[in-house]
Amino acid sequence: MDLRLSDADNEIQARARAFVETWLHPHEVACEMNDGLPKQTLAAIKKAVLAHKLNSWNHSVEDGGQGYTHLQQLLMHEELGKATNCLWATVWTASLPLKYGTPEQRRDYLLPINAGKRRACYAITEPDAGSDPRMVKASAVRRKGKYLLSGEKWFVTSADVADIILVHAHVDGDPDKPTLFIVDKDAPGVSVKREPKFMHTYVYEHFEMLFDKVELDESRILGKVGQGYELTKDWFVDARLDIAARCVGGAIRAAEIADDYATKRVQFGRPIRDFQAVEFMIADSAVEIMAAKSMLYRVGWELDQGLDRKLIHARASAIKLFCSEMAGRVIDRAVQVLGGRGYMRENPVERLYRDIRVDRIWEGTSEVQRAIIGGQIRKRGLGVYTGWV
Ligand SMILES: Cc1cc2nc3c(=O)[nH]c(=O)nc-3n(C[C@H](O)[C@H](O)[C@H](O)COP(=O)(O)OP(=O)(O)OC[C@H]3O[C@@H](n4cnc5c(N)ncnc54)[C@H](O)[C@@H]3O)c2cc1C
Repeated sequence: MDLRLSDADNEIQARARAFVETWLHPHEVACEMNDGLPKQTLAAIKKAVLAHKLNSWNHSVEDGGQGYTHLQQLLMHEELGKATNCLWATVWTASLPLKYGTPEQRRDYLLPINAGKRRACYAITEPDAGSDPRMVKASAVRRKGKYLLSGEKWFVTSADVADIILVHAHVDGDPDKPTLFIVDKDAPGVSVKREPKFMHTYVYEHFEMLFDKVELDESRILGKVGQGYELTKDWFVDARLDIAARCVGGAIRAAEIADDYATKRVQFGRPIRDFQAVEFMIADSAVEIMAAKSMLYRVGWELDQGLDRKLIHARASAIKLFCSEMAGRVIDRAVQVLGGRGYMRENPVERLYRDIRVDRIWEGTSEVQRAIIGGQIRKRGLGVYTGWV
């Protein structure tokens, strides 16, 4: 069993780390205090993303991507997760389902998005449809060879910087016909309802959006009518793996800050790490990160060996659940080790504390992941998780 990273893996990890330290860390506090970054800063970061070859990590070279292995993608996300304010979102990719588009869709959306010339966001969630997407009310009604899309979508991440929205709707209101539509943000009938604020100070926005009889022709359907959920599932799996990796990165950054602080901070005449209560917090965090990282890299390796699609789904839920909950505990301890300083917004551990909370909610809550894991165990046996390849 050889667990070493290859030279190529190490190079990608080092490149991603250099990008994060040079291009993201310096802008974190400004993003936090000003609720975003100026256009010129974002433009400079965009150039740096291209120069570091970090965009479109999950697509093949022929689709305008970097052709990274799954493990390499996770290594990269681990580094991106060390940035606060979700500045990792400045590193873009085309949503995975776009690779299943027609030649025209690939030309018009997949390639330009991967190149950074266009940007898409993904809209599934609605006021009455969160964990249960069958409750979606957005409907695309067929009329004379066109579709009229109407509905309301919530939490549309990065909608402010996107020009295309992938909208999950039911054709003719039928939950058995979930379908993905590619919608131009400036199409007649598309509007922003609200720009709510969230616990984290995300570099972009999460809009609530309205679709009022937006006219779309067949060419705007991604895949087939009824295939929407299947395609969205692909996106979920991919996003869950990325989240898990970023959680490991965020936890490492917080633990490193706490470890360093515990050495330097002196109270009662000695460094606080000499108090076992503090040292045990650091020890617990180190062990939890080690466990999460072992799991993450194992899954990256398995994916590169061509793991069965159903097992990928099973694995993605397990690592998203474990890594996001682990990061919550590790970052909470880091805040505690830093005392009052850990509670200041100018401190990365405070920002990580708020940033990481959503990782137990989006792309399927922790409870939904547990339900998936429970279902996998019932169907395939406990060995899905307790066995070895
Ligand atoms: C910052 C942010 C960004 C987001 N970005 C996007 C985006 O870009 N596009 C998009 O479409 N959506 C996005 N979402 C939505 C996100 O995916 C949903 O919030 C998430 O799926 C949960 O849905 P909900 O909020 O409606 O909670 P609900 O589904 O109402 O859940 C509420 C509670 O009930 C629990 N629960 C629900 N069902 C079960 C069950 N079967 N078993 C046990 N417990 C259950 C949940 O775990 C949770 O604790 C975003 C959300 C946030 C907060």
